Amino acid sequence: MIRWAVCALLGLAACARPHYLGAAVPEPCRARDIDACLGWMVERDLAAAELGAYEDAELRGYVQAVVDRLARGSSLTRTPRVLLADRDGTYATVGGRIVVARPTLEKLGSEAELAGILAHEMAHIEGKHTVASLFGPHPDEDWLVMRRDAEAIADERAILLLETAGYAPVAMGRALRNVLTVEDEEHPAKDLRIARVESLAVGRGGFEGRDELYAHLAGMVVGRDPRAGIRIGDAWVIAALGIAFELAPDDLVRAADDLLVVRRGTATLTGYVLGAPWARELVGTLEDRDAHRTTLGLVTAGTVARRTARDDSPLGKLQRAIRSGLPQPAVGARVAILERRRGALILELGGRRSPELNFRVATPTEIATSEPARIAIAHAQRSGTIASQDACRGVLLDDPQRMVRAGDPIKCADRAPLARPADESGAEAAETRRDE
Ligand SMILES: [Zn+2]
Repeated sequence: MIRWAVCALLGLAACARPHYLGAAVPEPCRARDIDACLGWMVERDLAAAELGAYEDAELRGYVQAVVDRLARGSSLTRTPRVLLADRDGTYATVGGRIVVARPTLEKLGSEAELAGILAHEMAHIEGKHTVASLFGPHPDEDWLVMRRDAEAIADERAILLLETAGYAPVAMGRALRNVLTVEDEEHPAKDLRIARVESLAVGRGGFEGRDELYAHLAGMVVGRDPRAGIRIGDAWVIAALGIAFELAPDDLVRAADDLLVVRRGTATLTGYVLGAPWARELVGTLEDRDAHRTTLGLVTAGTVARRTARDDSPLGKLQRAIRSGLPQPAVGARVAILERRRGALILELGGRRSPELNFRVATPTEIATSEPARIAIAHAQRSGTIASQDACRGVLLDDPQRMVRAGDPIKCADRAPLARPADESGAEAAETRRDE
């Protein structure tokens, strides 16, 4: 600690603080508090590398407050920190982070249900299950049995955490019903999990908080966020970066998720968005680098080289392990990276001849067309089922069979949300050939 203070005072370059993805590494990393350091890196990866954080400070603060309330009844000495992510999958990570997916929030019906999901993840942190999954043995049958046991334990523990915090434990069964869509071999069967938590929670009341959750969800993006990439007419528009890529008449375009794949003659072009600090690091690893400034930003082309400088300190090894999971082109790939203020676009260029890259600033109309659907809360006009009301001006997201009283909130979207890739009936559906 003293060393850093001296360095800062003298401004010595020689004792420059180590950096990770454009930020100085915090005290836990320097003090070798591996768990806390990993948590910080996970957070940095999500925001600065993957551009995958869902930025809504108010909503994050609300979810964090629910975690704070649950944590007081847990055995944890550090309260887990909530991160909101703009992709599927809610999970706990090493370093006490709980990554809450926007699509998970979208499916929940009350604060108690949200607390149930958070309590389950908190139980994984209490049980150090996240450490087991990162450093544990490879997935074999024994591992899967252990994993399923951990899930059953986390469900059971969640019921207790809910009750201690004053939440209705019966919400846990509903939360699982709402959130679990597909079965996987790492979890016990969905019906079995729900039956188990329902039998544990039977007859135990507590705070439900539908109004509270809905009030905080109002305005949240729902469905796929088209600002990360959407085809509009003859262009692939990335409103998040304010740019558009012009498609040629004979291009074979496959636009699935936030990924653009264009086949133009014998050339292939794959484009995706990255965080600016991570893109800058990748630029630094390019061979035969050719950089030129354009009106859109700095474009650097080159070939991805194998990293030669190996840092074999514990921190260096950790960084390598975590970075290997970030989105990046393969060694030997030819790429062009366009740096913008908010993030960067990386284009992997396949085939013998590089296609011409036609970029321009996105038009105001394209930016407006890329606006995502958002949650809008309507209110019931009278008592009855939601189906009997005419409350939503956009699209109903709530359960049509749910009984409401006049004035109760109803979850709607202000327009039809775009389907997420998992909801699409196969990637081929997204492949279109332009005919003119
Ligand atoms: Zn779990």
